Amino acid sequence: SKRVALEGVAKVFKDPTAGRNVTAVKDSDFVIEPGELVTLLGPSGCGKTTTLRMIGGFEVPTRGRIFIGSDDVTYLPPNQRDTAMVFQSYGLFPHMNVFDNVAYGLKLRKVPSQDIEKKVTEFLRMVGLEELAKRPPSRLSGGQQQRVALARSLIVEPGVLLLDEPLSNLDALLREQMRVEIRRIQKSLNITAVYVTHDRVEAMSLSDRVIVMDRGEVVQIGTPSQIYCDPVSSFVAGFVGKVAFFPGKVVEIMEGRHRVLVKGMEYSLSLASPELKEGDQCNVMCRPESLVMDEPGKGVTDGKVITNVYLGHSLESYVDTDLGEMLVQIDNPGGKRIYAEGEPVSVGFNPDCAKALPL
Ligand code: ADP
Ligand code: MG
Repeated sequence: SKRVALEGVAKVFKDPTAGRNVTAVKDSDFVIEPGELVTLLGPSGCGKTTTLRMIGGFEVPTRGRIFIGSDDVTYLPPNQRDTAMVFQSYGLFPHMNVFDNVAYGLKLRKVPSQDIEKKVTEFLRMVGLEELAKRPPSRLSGGQQQRVALARSLIVEPGVLLLDEPLSNLDALLREQMRVEIRRIQKSLNITAVYVTHDRVEAMSLSDRVIVMDRGEVVQIGTPSQIYCDPVSSFVAGFVGKVAFFPGKVVEIMEGRHRVLVKGMEYSLSLASPELKEGDQCNVMCRPESLVMDEPGKGVTDGKVITNVYLGHSLESYVDTDLGEMLVQIDNPGGKRIYAEGEPVSVGFNPDCAKALPL
């Protein structure tokens, strides 16, 4: 497994039809360590695929350098880099059966046929497709096809595996299974992987670290828990999970804590954006599990329960408040005071888990 590094990488597409240039990726710097699984997460059009294609050699950067291991690969074609790509559309050879699809990269490398036989069998077993070796791709389900594509990419033991929304054509249940499987295989082979997705649940559950992108720019790099609990902006906060915002004002910064005024009450927060100065307006962001419901008048904002969704381990209450709709998650709801649909309530937050962000 190899290290991947981007230094000041940018991509500008010339778009003659629109008569203007499109900046798909702005100067990006990041490092992916050997054996790490890192996702590029962000809304459609933010530059994830372009970034991945530059790492794979399918696009040449307009500026900057790309390193794989210690090699500068910026201008090398895909077949001269130690990478393999798994596409959303699988890209299997329709005229070859499963075995031959998986064997393809080894045949290209002139590996002896007994070795091919052994290795293909091993990789088909790893993705759970031993029984289907003789089938053509047209007689496989979407999930099975994606497993073949995965085995075909992994069998050549690339230094870096690149995956572009590999699960987006699968149904929800299968997606969940494959997600676990991809991580298990990636860890067992200790392969460096760069995974593109716009699905925050996928990114959070798969990744060692997440790179959040917005409009061509890398906006935050962190572990799933860092980007969830300590997002750098309201955009990241809202993109990586459900969130409630309470408008506030920074009254004092002392000993690393921000005292913030929200609806006439002061809270001392340990988490706050370094951009915030005394006197600034801010948004106090809270996750659903850090919101608390109480009798009207006792919390930060009053409201009324609209819908309760019972999930067994937790209860989700959608509350219409003076500050907009908020989702309150009550863990282990058995034995707790539950406010029924239509009941008036107030919503407050646990300041230990709240973060003050710039507007
Ligand atoms: P994502 O994968 O995050 O959805 P992309 O990397 O595919 O985003 O695209 C980023 C931006 O670059 C978009 O505005 C897209 O329209 C533009 N773009 C991508 N490829 C090309 C291309 N070959 N020519 C012109 N514009 C492109
Ligand atoms: Mg894309």
